[in-house]
Amino acid sequence: MKNEIPTRFIEKLQNHFGSVIADKTLSALSLKSSISVRVNPMKPTAQFDDRQKVPWSKNGYLLPERPTFALDPLFHAGSYYVQDSSSMILEAILQKIQPAREGLYLDVCAAPGGKSTILLDYLDDEGFLIANEVDPKRNAILRENILKWGRLNAGVTSLPARKFDELECAFDLILVDAPCSGEGMFRKDSFAVSQWSENLVEQCALTQKSILAELLPTLKEGGVLIYSTCTMNPEENELQVQKLLDSGTVEPIEIDLSEFSDYLIEANVDNSVIGYYLLPGSSTGEGLFISTLKKTTVSAHEDRRKSRYSTPFQSADVEFQSAFPELPQNLVYWNLKGELHAVVQHQYIEALNLPFKMLGLPYYQMKGENVIPLHGFAMASNGLRAIELSEENSLQFLRKETISLPPNLPKGWSLVSYQNIHLGWVKIIDQRSNNYYPSWLRLRI
Ligand code: SAM
Repeated sequence: MKNEIPTRFIEKLQNHFGSVIADKTLSALSLKSSISVRVNPMKPTAQFDDRQKVPWSKNGYLLPERPTFALDPLFHAGSYYVQDSSSMILEAILQKIQPAREGLYLDVCAAPGGKSTILLDYLDDEGFLIANEVDPKRNAILRENILKWGRLNAGVTSLPARKFDELECAFDLILVDAPCSGEGMFRKDSFAVSQWSENLVEQCALTQKSILAELLPTLKEGGVLIYSTCTMNPEENELQVQKLLDSGTVEPIEIDLSEFSDYLIEANVDNSVIGYYLLPGSSTGEGLFISTLKKTTVSAHEDRRKSRYSTPFQSADVEFQSAFPELPQNLVYWNLKGELHAVVQHQYIEALNLPFKMLGLPYYQMKGENVIPLHGFAMASNGLRAIELSEENSLQFLRKETISLPPNLPKGWSLVSYQNIHLGWVKIIDQRSNNYYPSWLRLRI
């Protein structure tokens, strides 16, 4: 049964936006929530080409209903990410302001990882993204999604926000997609409705304020701070930005999003536009607030690179190199408990002493003199040859069942793919093959 929208929330919404917009939003809350996907440009699929495009996203599509994503092998291969269309506005903002790609980016509240995948698409192979999530369970989901997206210029940490200042980090871009009271998710998540209270809004506003205050010292002069929430009240949005502006360390970045004005509602502080709302009923997706600011003062950590630590990287073992000679030469490797993770653009993090949970992607491990390729290698490298599977065989592979392969294939390691997108590794031994899909990812339906 659906929970009732709290009366006090309705009053606050009317006070904030006026009755026309509030009524439109409230009637949309009784409708079905929207469903949308963003395609991974590194692993394109044409299956959504006939769907309505998300106006502000190059690879975003609106779907009329929710398919069983789990039964699509390409979902598991990281060909697309199921993401609310409102969140995709981040893509348009990055395209408009064009922050330098040669830089260190932080997504501090990153799980499950949707906005991190947008930042990675923007960075392409340049720069480096630290995707951080403090909650251990959510961090595991973040790692899974980063793994599937297949980029090597990313690292995952699990730190409280204040740690980045203590560890003397200096970032070129910080995204704070803050924990919030979740008003924007009311029609997706009935728990958000049942747990809502003015007290929760207050608590969230305090948390947001401290996350922002803890991170501001780590943003370089000229660096970009993007603040977003999935909520619609001024306490968690305009008033947070107001406090940042009052600190005298940031200024708003003007962004011309007029081509999307039918879908956006401007957010103001002191009669200046400081951000945008995307609201159910007015936009295509769920509720979101987003504001983009520029740091105007220097970070104390900007010039202290030389005196710091060095994250240990190594080159590939010769056995791995000779097993996969087609591998690009610009990779370095980071050893996590015997698993070698391939990394690019490591210069951005070399001087930092960050405790990474995942750095680049797991590529291989050595068992004596034998090389075992790992799942990150399959997810990242779409140029390598693979055995193409049918849909049925792909699902068997993802369930970690034994799959039947064509006869007389050469013995040894091989990638398997569906519609030319890699799914994982098999090892061919005489007339059978062993399935190396990771157990923890195994499809259970
Ligand atoms: N950016 C994500 C995305 O696009 O997929 C969604 C992030 S969600 C809105 C906010 C995240 O902040 C949650 O994963 C939550 O665990 C995390 N979080 C909660 N309290 C926090 C705190 N005090 N400091 C940092 N992160 C926190």
